[in-house]
Amino acid sequence: MIYEMPTKIIFGKGCIGEQKEEFKNLGSKACIVTGKSSAKRNGSYADVVKALDSLGIEHILFDEVEENPSLETLEKAKIKALEHGSNFVIGIGGGSPMDAAKGIAIMIKNPEIGADNLIGNHILDGVPVVAIPTTAGTGSEVTQYAIFTDFKRGTKLNYGHKIFPTIAFLDASYMNDMPLPLTRYTALDALSHLMESYLNVRSNLISETFVQQGLGYFAKCINALVSGEITEQNREELLLASTYGGIAIAQTRTSLPHAMGYSLTYYHNMPHGVANAILYEAYLKSFEDKTRISKIIEWLCLDSLEQLFDIINKLLEGVNFVCSDEELHKYVNSIISDKMKTSSHPEKVDAQLLFDIYKNSLTIGDSFYE
Ligand code: NAP
Ligand code: FE
Repeated sequence: MIYEMPTKIIFGKGCIGEQKEEFKNLGSKACIVTGKSSAKRNGSYADVVKALDSLGIEHILFDEVEENPSLETLEKAKIKALEHGSNFVIGIGGGSPMDAAKGIAIMIKNPEIGADNLIGNHILDGVPVVAIPTTAGTGSEVTQYAIFTDFKRGTKLNYGHKIFPTIAFLDASYMNDMPLPLTRYTALDALSHLMESYLNVRSNLISETFVQQGLGYFAKCINALVSGEITEQNREELLLASTYGGIAIAQTRTSLPHAMGYSLTYYHNMPHGVANAILYEAYLKSFEDKTRISKIIEWLCLDSLEQLFDIINKLLEGVNFVCSDEELHKYVNSIISDKMKTSSHPEKVDAQLLFDIYKNSLTIGDSFYE
C-alpha cells in the first residue's frame, strides 16, 4: 500500500500573511492564476500580492480562467508566463484556477508543450505550484489531478500528469460571501469525493480515515447547508471536508459519478458538483455492498439512505435534467470504451448499469441546464 500526499498544508484565518516566508523557497517570479473576478472580491488575491511584494517577489496576473478550463486558455497563460519569466505558479480560486495552475506549471517547465500535446503519454514535471482554494470544493489543493475541457476530443478529462501543489494555504474566510447555490454545489462535490473514495477498489485504511473524518465535518454542516444559514465555523468545516476528500481521492481516484458527470457538464453546462450529485441516488441504489453504504450513513450521522437522498435533493433544489436516450448512449459509450474510467468501481460494471444510472437520474419537466 502506498500513501503519498506531499503537499504542505498551511491553514487558518490569515495564514497567507502569517506564513508568507514560505513563498521565498519557491521562486523569484510568480504567475498568479485566477478566475475572472472572485479572487479580487474575496481578499485572497490582495493577501497574496501583499505577501509577495513584501518579499520582493515579482508577479503577474492571469485572470482569464473560465469554469471547466480549456486547454486553449492554458496556452494563453503559458505565453504570458514565459514572457514574464515566471518560475512558479500560484492558483487562487475554485478547482478551475487551481487545476489551470498545474497545467501552466507543466507548460512553463516544458515550453514545447501546448494545448495540442499537454494530454499525452509522458508524465511531465512542472515548476512549483501554490494552491489557494476559495471554494470547498474540489480538494484540488491536495490532489495531483487537473481536469480540462478538450474541445478537440469533445470532453472533459484529467490531464494525466501528477502535479501535487507544493503548498496549500487554507483560509475559509475567503468563502464568507459565497452565494448559497455555489456553496451547496461545491459542498456536494466534496461529499461525492469522500463517498467515491470509499466505494472504490483502491480504498485503504489511510484513505478511509480521511473519508470518515471528512464525512464527520460534512455532517456538522448539513443543517446549515439546507437552511442556508452558514456560519464561519461551517465554512471552516466544509473546507476541511473538501481537503480531506482531496487527500482521499489522491490515493484512490474518484469513481462512476465523476466519470459520468463530465458529459453532463460538457454537453449540458451543469456545474461540476451538480453533475455528480444528480446521479447519486441512482448510483447508491445500484451499489450492492450495503455494508459500505451503511458505514457512509453512520459517518454522516444519518439514520437512513433515504435521509441522504432527501438532503441531496434539497441541496440541488429543483435542478432538473432531461436528455434523450440517444445522447445517454453516447455518454455511456465514451465511458465504457475507456477502462480507466470504470476501474475504481469494485462491482460489475457494464453499459447497462451506466445507462440505468443516467436514466434513473432524469427528472420530468424542463431542463434547468441546457
Ligand atoms: P470553479 O469552476 O473554480 O468556479 C466556479 C465559480 O465560482 C466561478 O464563477 C468563480 O468565480 C466562483 N467563485 C470561486 N470562489 C468564489 C468565492 N469565494 N466566492 C464567490 N464566488 C467564487 O468551481 P469549482 O467547483 O471549485 O471547480 C470545478 C472545477 O474543478 C471543474 O473543472 C472540475 O472538473 C475540477 N475538479 C478538480 C478536481 C481535482 O482534484 N483537481 C477535483 C474535482 C473537480 P471567478 O471565475 O470569478 O473566480
Ligand atoms: Fe469533483
